[in-house]
Amino acid sequence: MQLQIECNRALSQKQFCLICNHFFEPTEAKVIICNDQGDAFGEACPQCLGKGFNWLSGRFEQLLSHPQKREGIHFPRNRKVPAGV
Ligand SMILES: [Zn+2]
Repeated sequence: MQLQIECNRALSQKQFCLICNHFFEPTEAKVIICNDQGDAFGEACPQCLGKGFNWLSGRFEQLLSHPQKREGIHFPRNRKVPAGV
């Protein structure tokens, strides 16, 4: 797992935490969780980040290895595409 930090330009939009499946108040820097190939999977909230990289990494591995828990994961290639485009 890798973490990428991006400047958040959409401070009015709630962010969704991939790890705990909750919306959280946006922060100026958003932390994006990526796999080892650099594919972005989602964001992490400050509470989850506060638990440390090892904990986050373990949770991420669990999410990937338990298919029944994958519904909340926003896979980059599964983003909804408007019909007819
Ligand atoms: Zn969280």
